[in-house]
Amino acid sequence: MCGIFGIANHKDAAKLTYLGLYALQHRGEESAGIVTRHCKKLLSYKGMGLVGDIFNKDVLKNLKGDIAVGHTRYSTTGSTTTKNIQPFYIKHKKENLTIAHNGNLINTAELHGQLEKNGAIFQTTMDSEIIAHLFTHSNEKNYKKLISNMLCQLQGAYSLVMLLNDVLIGARDPFGWRPLCIGKLNESYVLASETCALDLIQAEYIRDVEPGEIVFISKKGIECLKPPKEHKKSFCVFEYIYFSRPDSNIFGSNVYLTRKQLGRQLAKEHPVDCDLVMSIPDSGNYAAVGYAEALKKPCEVGMIRNHYVGRTFIQPSQFIRDFKVKVKLNPIKEVLKGKKIAVIEDSIVRGTTSRARIKALRDAGAKEIHMRVTCPPLKYPCFFGIDFPTKKELIASNQTIKEIAKHLGLDSLEYISLEGMLKSMKQPDNDFCTACFNGKYPVKLPKKLSKYILEK
Ligand code: MG
Repeated sequence: MCGIFGIANHKDAAKLTYLGLYALQHRGEESAGIVTRHCKKLLSYKGMGLVGDIFNKDVLKNLKGDIAVGHTRYSTTGSTTTKNIQPFYIKHKKENLTIAHNGNLINTAELHGQLEKNGAIFQTTMDSEIIAHLFTHSNEKNYKKLISNMLCQLQGAYSLVMLLNDVLIGARDPFGWRPLCIGKLNESYVLASETCALDLIQAEYIRDVEPGEIVFISKKGIECLKPPKEHKKSFCVFEYIYFSRPDSNIFGSNVYLTRKQLGRQLAKEHPVDCDLVMSIPDSGNYAAVGYAEALKKPCEVGMIRNHYVGRTFIQPSQFIRDFKVKVKLNPIKEVLKGKKIAVIEDSIVRGTTSRARIKALRDAGAKEIHMRVTCPPLKYPCFFGIDFPTKKELIASNQTIKEIAKHLGLDSLEYISLEGMLKSMKQPDNDFCTACFNGKYPVKLPKKLSKYILEK
């Protein structure tokens, strides 16, 4: 997962990109970077950590130019090193190309091999570097054709914001796994992963970059290269379940309202005769509102989040994850003592954090704890950008719902049905990728990846 942002024709391009990244921070906390173009040269600043800690006034002042690209990173492929911080940029002959990528490619091994055979030397383990090499290995003179040919060779998920000389480019893979939208701020065009980034800089939302579309933004305005024919869509349902910010609109509808509807649907499928409904903050909050509303039960805040702690899941090591659970959420004994509670959770991935949280609720005196989850059991790895790497790590791929309930220390556990989840979305059921729930991957996976699905 990652957040990407770009802006063209604005004197404060770097500052606005900084704000855009700030709004997209939830999409990746590992590192961030901004690249601008000034007097035909690229200027860049990158660092590990949070956007607010990496950049300061002087850094932003030095990032001159009226065009900028930014990235916040959550590493899925490629290891955690400073070399892998995006945007990735290259100078080749007289051209500059900058790439900010969200998603995961699945044919990287194949492309990597071909490119190396043709003399490419790789410096990082990022998908974006492969894209850069495809660019340098092309003889096409027309830059729009060049970009289009380059993207045709990629398989998997990509939403891209790129800068080719003085042209800002936005692109989405034909399946449209990851979101990307276009906004306008007076005379400037903006590209962003989510609309919450447009809201912050007061840019007007124009539309999404369509799956398979490439947009070129230059001084002349915006030109769009639409896909030649209708392609099967494959929006990532997990963007709605967990990943995107609730104040964003993605794939054509609002994330908060979708989560609330998931809560209502969950109440219909798996009601609990409880004293109160509560969520595991923050990701469960919005569905809990819908769940309680549907059952006409009080919705309480039974746990308080310490806002000075980062997202726990995002830290790569297990030790830090376990530790952070304890500092992040504190139950309110006075609300929970002796109560029968329905706890709404957006998803259970490994079960580690959930187990610790349930224990905390139990220690605070809750009498009965019934967990309801707004997505079906996660059983299969994602190869398109969500961090569910192996089957072994996904608790639902190895245990039944009853076993999971026992492991987590719950009185009962129920998940929304796949049909119910899809029904809660405004888009047609077929427009979503549901591979993490049912193993039905929308593309044929290369051999190297399919072995992960078979492993126990
Ligand atoms: Mg959560």
